[in-house]
Amino acid sequence: MRGITLKKKNAPVLERIEITPPGTVVLPLIQHLGEPAEPTVKPGDKVKSGQLIAAAPTDRSVPLYSPLTGTVSALTTTFSSRGQETEAVVIEGTHTIPSKKTSADPGSLSPAQLTTALREAGLLGPGPFPSPLIRDLLAPEQAGSRPVKRIDTLLVSALDPEPSLGVNRYLAGIESEALGVGIASLKAVSGAEQVVIATDKNLPLPEPLRAIVAADEEETTRIVRLNGRRYPTGLPIPLIKAALVREVPLPYGRPRDVGVALCTVSAAVSLGETLLTGAPPVTTLLTVGGGALGKAGIVEVPLGTTIEDLVSALGGFVRQPAKLIVGGPLTGFAHYDPSVPLGKDAGGLFALTEQEITVVGSYRECINCGRCVAVCPVNLVPGMLSMYCAKDRFEEAAARGLFTCIECGCCDYVCPSRRPLVHLFRHAKHQLMEKEQ
Ligand code: SF4
Ligand code: SF4
Repeated sequence: MRGITLKKKNAPVLERIEITPPGTVVLPLIQHLGEPAEPTVKPGDKVKSGQLIAAAPTDRSVPLYSPLTGTVSALTTTFSSRGQETEAVVIEGTHTIPSKKTSADPGSLSPAQLTTALREAGLLGPGPFPSPLIRDLLAPEQAGSRPVKRIDTLLVSALDPEPSLGVNRYLAGIESEALGVGIASLKAVSGAEQVVIATDKNLPLPEPLRAIVAADEEETTRIVRLNGRRYPTGLPIPLIKAALVREVPLPYGRPRDVGVALCTVSAAVSLGETLLTGAPPVTTLLTVGGGALGKAGIVEVPLGTTIEDLVSALGGFVRQPAKLIVGGPLTGFAHYDPSVPLGKDAGGLFALTEQEITVVGSYRECINCGRCVAVCPVNLVPGMLSMYCAKDRFEEAAARGLFTCIECGCCDYVCPSRRPLVHLFRHAKHQLMEKEQ
């Protein structure tokens, strides 16, 4: 597979950093591809941690729950972690763990009951542009009147979307009943005949994953070891190709087009915890890093924690930040407003210093060196595409594969002219999609 190989050794599995949760959260009504959730509360309402505050009208949306016990202080407008403008529910109060509601044995639940639990958990699929997980995972008999293709394989990623992110590798190494319960439940909901767990061959095999395979008496679970130093192996389309040798048709294909349901270890743990406790997920794990923060690790935050509140809880900046990125440095989104909340689609927060970034405005003309072509995992000609995009010739860029681009950032990484290629592609896609609406 084309891509880039990290020069340094495999990134270490990160340690957890404990923080004091904030007293205010801002919950965007849309945090994924699809439709927004609909608020079920209004300003002035008292809420408890774990209480529904926005319902999902369809499977193109996910429900939202309050991470705080307190009061709804406002309905406002904000940007999601991925830069979508959206309405949001603001809640002030105290973070508490939602009270447990049920102790039904998840193993005794039918696929229909597990589907309901998955729908209510409101989990997202993997990758920089997640959809509601339920949409891409339901077996035909669970999907109602919506015709969907049959899934034969549940692919569980213990890799992270990019090397600087570490939540999946972190969770894969932690002994938890939730991971096994989550994987078994996702297999039942999807109707998959086999489970394949993708791990990084440069790291020791996590014992919890080995135990899950050993516990499968039907021998339908196996592990594949991939080169996590090779990027973008952890992104959905390349991951399916590397782990299963199946090619998702681009530009608009989905994993289920090749019989695959794709989820992360993180989503499996969240579903398992929801089934074991009966309480919905109200926090998210993020990778934090960057020279301006001066520390790197995994941090658990209530959903809707703002960038500024997280930075403050981490002790503030130790150096002047030049760029705040939500997500990973290669696939994330730059934000200039620290009041932006970190939602289900965040994945990480990196505060980079000027030395760690390409300074905006410093890029040069394309010199046709071809390096971007050599690394593009979906066989595009990024330099040429960027020239069409920079000249607002978006339709011509689309005709040459713009929407096939998975926004991995490999071309950006190698470009000697430091052209902001992914930025140009995102802008062009956005313009074309706006035009279509
Ligand atoms: S053109 Fe898109 S898919 Fe190809 S390397 Fe660049 S960002 Fe990745
Ligand atoms: S790597 Fe940069 S300079 Fe080289 S062809 Fe691609 S866009 Fe042009």
